[in-house]
Amino acid sequence: MSKILILPGDGIGTEIIDQAVKVINSLNSNHEMGMTLVNGLIGGIAYDETGSPLPEETIKIAKSCDSILLGAVGGPKWESLERDLRPERGLLGIRSELDLFSNLRPAILYPQLASASSLKTEIVSGLDLMIVRELVSGIYFGKPRGIEIRDGERFGINSATYYESEIARIGHSAFQIAQKRGKRVCSVDKANVLEVCELWREVMEEVSLSYPDVALSHMYVDNAAMQLVRDPKQFDVMVTSNLFGDVLSDCAAMLTGSIGMLPSASLDKNNFGMYEPIHGSAPDIAGKDIANPLATILSVSMMLRYSLNQVELADKINSAVSTVLDKGYRTKDISAVGDKVVGTEEMGDLIVMALESQ
Ligand code: NAD
Repeated sequence: MSKILILPGDGIGTEIIDQAVKVINSLNSNHEMGMTLVNGLIGGIAYDETGSPLPEETIKIAKSCDSILLGAVGGPKWESLERDLRPERGLLGIRSELDLFSNLRPAILYPQLASASSLKTEIVSGLDLMIVRELVSGIYFGKPRGIEIRDGERFGINSATYYESEIARIGHSAFQIAQKRGKRVCSVDKANVLEVCELWREVMEEVSLSYPDVALSHMYVDNAAMQLVRDPKQFDVMVTSNLFGDVLSDCAAMLTGSIGMLPSASLDKNNFGMYEPIHGSAPDIAGKDIANPLATILSVSMMLRYSLNQVELADKINSAVSTVLDKGYRTKDISAVGDKVVGTEEMGDLIVMALESQ
């Protein structure tokens, strides 16, 4: 029996979450999963209803749940609010409040969608890369930070900081994931220039001693960016800091050609996690029944795999997605000439049908 907090958020959030809920309901009916769903507020809608993008109540419910499934937050309506009240602060807030330090961002290219990539098919077809990004420390959180006046002019400052314990725990996360995959970890840093990265590299070496079955390599971030575009299939698991991970994971996502296909997970040390598509709230297409719900449905699959220990059901969702793509059904964002273009709702129904006919 698992209790799941559902946070639809803003924009297309509600539409895509509705499809993921259909999938969960189907698993409940056909596999006696007994997943209980509780709804909560985050982002712009939370600000509208409570005055805060992350109400206390949401954190309280989250702490009583086994997992969280999030749609997306943000939109033009809230862009002029002061920084701390913006929807995105809700997202940063919940990650840090729940200490979700390990961000898993798979970049998987379904062979059926290889033509959607801007790279040549042979370079990307079958790509299956996992980026493990440190999420609650590093330069995004380090102090001192701010803009001040120094020597009579404006001076901006941020600090890239890591305790060795923070590096070690993300290292363990990456190695444990690699053990279940291709058994290779590439740690990305800029140790030739930054001391904080020198420490990063040392600690990764130390952590690797506990995982003799996994091969560790190191790469500078500038080279990693280049290699991702040159030969992305050389990587199995890539582990990196908050800032480098932010940039590299977006680059890897784009190798797959569709932002609407990629799920993500943010985990704490006990594998409690928040699962969400990597895309935003897509205000330009909200309410039009054209958003791709597959990234959110695949986030449910990740939730089953990494937090709820239901690997078989996770595989069933992945293969339902594959079946539907094999039959030529596509939402608009991943469609090409000759495909059967369907809306958000219909795509959700097709996945449920494929799931139930396995
Ligand atoms: P976005 O990801 O929302 O959209 C980028 C482009 O991709 C848009 O053209 C959009 O229509 C398209 N797109 C995104 N998801 C899609 C889907 N499922 N199906 C089909 N097309 C899809 O990024 P943006 O436009 O830069 O940001 C919009 C808002 O979302 C902003 O307020 C931003 O702050 C917020 N945001 C939230 C998150 C999050 O909640 N995790 C992440 C990124 C951006």
